[in-house]
Amino acid sequence: MFLRGILVGKILKFLSNAKNKVFLSTCLAVHIISFIFYLQMGSVAVAVVNAISSLIYVILLITHYKDSDGSIVIAFFEIMCFSILSELLLSGNLGYMYFPLGMVSVISHLVSGKKTKIFLLQLVGIITTVIIFFIDADNIMIKIGPQVDYDEIRYCIIFSNILVALINMMYVSFLYLEGQERNRAALQYSIDHDPLTGLYNRRFFYAHVNDYESYKGKYAIAMMDIDNFKSINDNYGHKLGDAALVSMADILKASLNETDIAVRWGGEEFIVFMPDTDENIAFESLSAILEKIRNNVTTLDDKKVSFTVTIGLAVKSKIADFEKAINDADRRLYRGKNNGKNKIVK
Ligand code: GH3
Ligand code: MG
Ligand code: MG
Repeated sequence: MFLRGILVGKILKFLSNAKNKVFLSTCLAVHIISFIFYLQMGSVAVAVVNAISSLIYVILLITHYKDSDGSIVIAFFEIMCFSILSELLLSGNLGYMYFPLGMVSVISHLVSGKKTKIFLLQLVGIITTVIIFFIDADNIMIKIGPQVDYDEIRYCIIFSNILVALINMMYVSFLYLEGQERNRAALQYSIDHDPLTGLYNRRFFYAHVNDYESYKGKYAIAMMDIDNFKSINDNYGHKLGDAALVSMADILKASLNETDIAVRWGGEEFIVFMPDTDENIAFESLSAILEKIRNNVTTLDDKKVSFTVTIGLAVKSKIADFEKAINDADRRLYRGKNNGKNKIVK
């Protein structure tokens, strides 16, 4: 069950990441199947058209699949030409109209770029659809090679073509939904996190701290402030200051439990929220963090800097008291600052 979940996840990830590869490969598969089908039916001209189309997709897959737009635009025009030719050579009414029709609806999700480019492609798709409509309505045909009567299996061919167009539409709408989901997740990430350190921000903390109301045990709040941080900026530059903030955040991320929340409170101040934690356990893990920070060296280019932090710790039982806990931790932090820094005050 678990393995099947991983497999499905991997397939879905491949389908959304390898958009061009999937689209071009599907077109190639359709053409190969059509080539075999029409060859054995005796429609040599249409088999040749499919063979040429297959060759185009093999070349596109080998040379172009990483180029997101170019290959799709070439494929788009191939689909237009192929649909008209198939309908002309097969004496019409075989449902090749559904290919350009489908492409009009999905092309905006397959190529990026300017709206005018997409609009022009859609216009080409609409014109192709109309051309095929008149080819069918007026029974226009080009007779090359032996003529085959498809009356008996006409609806099978139409059905297959509709199915191919629908699967293509489903795939592209999947791509669209995946893209939306990814954008939503990226937006949510930037709403919840500090861009420099990747830690949670104050907004996230206030929005989620009440989620811990059901926790029965004590919780700890540690307020941390880097010591003499201004002098790091003044002596080594703002960039190394930023790097020091990032390394501080990395130490927090590596040292905390999964349920703990580390927040960049502002500037060089951090808050760590530890649910289900009493004073002794909090003090122990904060001591380990303090020691790691003392031993850490932040490097940028040829510059190196070490720093320390002062921590104020408060422990409470009711989540409703978290503002009080923050104030207590803040007061203790400043007591630590006035008593030599580089320590935990509880
Ligand atoms: P103390 O030991 O008393 O905490 O002294 P301090 O120098 O750390 O504290 P102070 O409040 O005087 O200075 C904090 C400095 O942090 C001032 C500000 O320029 C710097 N700072 C705030 N945010 C950032 C940031 O994102 N990047 C960098 N490089 N510096 C920042
Ligand atoms: Mg400071
Ligand atoms: Mg400060």
